[in-house]
Amino acid sequence: MTDVEYSSESLYDELVRHKLILPVSEPGAFGRGAVFEDVLERFGDLVTRISKNDGAERMQFPPILDRKTFEKSEFLDSFPHLAGTVFSFKGTEAEAKELQAKVKAGENWEDTQSMTGVALAPAACYPVYPACAGTVPDEGRLVYMQNWVFRHEPSPEPTRMQSFRCREFIRIGKPEAVFEWRNAWHKRGLELLLSLGLPATSDVAADPFFGRGGRMLAANQKDQKLKFEVLVPVISKENPTAVCSFNYHQDHFGKIFGIYTPDGELAHTACLGFGMERVVMALFKTHGFVPAEWPKYVRDLLWP
Ligand code: ZN
Repeated sequence: MTDVEYSSESLYDELVRHKLILPVSEPGAFGRGAVFEDVLERFGDLVTRISKNDGAERMQFPPILDRKTFEKSEFLDSFPHLAGTVFSFKGTEAEAKELQAKVKAGENWEDTQSMTGVALAPAACYPVYPACAGTVPDEGRLVYMQNWVFRHEPSPEPTRMQSFRCREFIRIGKPEAVFEWRNAWHKRGLELLLSLGLPATSDVAADPFFGRGGRMLAANQKDQKLKFEVLVPVISKENPTAVCSFNYHQDHFGKIFGIYTPDGELAHTACLGFGMERVVMALFKTHGFVPAEWPKYVRDLLWP
């Protein structure tokens, strides 16, 4: 491979210039163009093809999460800074007029809003755990889905979006089975991205836990090798971007949502997620911004 220059600004500019992303006024909230979407869907199809014999059950949830599940998930304990809760107007007609006047005058209208029963989905897999409450079959369960995920981290870096799609597989069952599944997919995910010509590597990782207490949680997560990521240089060679993550939650969700194995033990869970937009950006960065010019072996996989 020839020497590639990496920078956040140049990637953003190139994506915009080729109409792959459509700028809006808020960072990390841009639109996606037709070619971008085509590649994203084709990568999703490839994931479906390589996993078609796994017997995964499809579930689809909206990009919102009921607030009870959101509160129970303990997301706010670890990532209060990333969460997005949905607020709405519940006032009278007179108060509605006040709201409209404030908006038109460019004034702050925060005080006209109050909390609803939903939050934006902070992870694609969260609704799956309460949906699997109770006793899972002996062989456990395997679920897949794709959903929009919200993270409150506005940034001009194109790879750091406030809303993006995550394609996830979720495994629930006995500890050994879940652990083995996570490890097998770790290898499979890396191989998949390498097969597309992406200079992918894999590493132990930690979640962006909040605050000083969070540093300890992150260190603990790394020590126990609970999270792996597959990384590809997209905006920096030294700090490659995570495009896929493999998470072993042990009995965390089993305990919170009451999921058991047939022998009455708490079920363990693991999930893996492809950051769909990041995979697509990695493909554009690696092979160029015009898919028709991509290497034949890459096109053969995505345009079978
Ligand atoms: Zn997940």
